[in-house]
Amino acid sequence: MNERASNQPEHQPAAAISDQYNLRVCVHRGARQIGGSCVELCCEGKHLLLDIGLPLDSDGHDPAALPDISGLDAGNRSLLGVVISHAHSDHCGLADRLPKETVFLMGAATERILAAAAEFTPYGGKFENVIHLEDRKPIELGPFQIVPFLMDHSAYDAYSVLIAAGGRRLFYTGDLRAHGRKGKLFERLLRRR
Ligand SMILES: [Zn+2]
Repeated sequence: MNERASNQPEHQPAAAISDQYNLRVCVHRGARQIGGSCVELCCEGKHLLLDIGLPLDSDGHDPAALPDISGLDAGNRSLLGVVISHAHSDHCGLADRLPKETVFLMGAATERILAAAAEFTPYGGKFENVIHLEDRKPIELGPFQIVPFLMDHSAYDAYSVLIAAGGRRLFYTGDLRAHGRKGKLFERLLRRR
């Protein structure tokens, strides 16, 4: 994939959703490839990112690896937050490229893991503005309501999130599995209890 192509969104926003419900979704990466996940939501002029992953085939130094995200300009406060679903680089590996003022939403353990990983890997980091995800505890962020669901995955402290905004709901799974040590979390999700 050339530099330009790798920076193109995989899915353009759906006009019907945009017009009727005032929620737009742009899948920058993650729909047609494994890793590098990044989904941008827009509602009422505000933006929320779901993961900011490093593509598996990137060495991390490619400037095109960072998607063209609204609200990253200096002084532009339309990007309200970045959800980090878990501490795998293909979901969080570009977080350290974002402005230090960026608000991140991640589990408390994930924050500790990334801080510790910064000593050994290029993708960890210590972030100044962190809101902790807690299982099924809603977070209000501008027009977005975010409900985290603790899931089982090979990364500890992994979350799926249910986003409600503009009269629509979107469920972002992140990475999950049903067969691990905490596989019952997946069964609980299916039962909605
Ligand atoms: Zn993962």
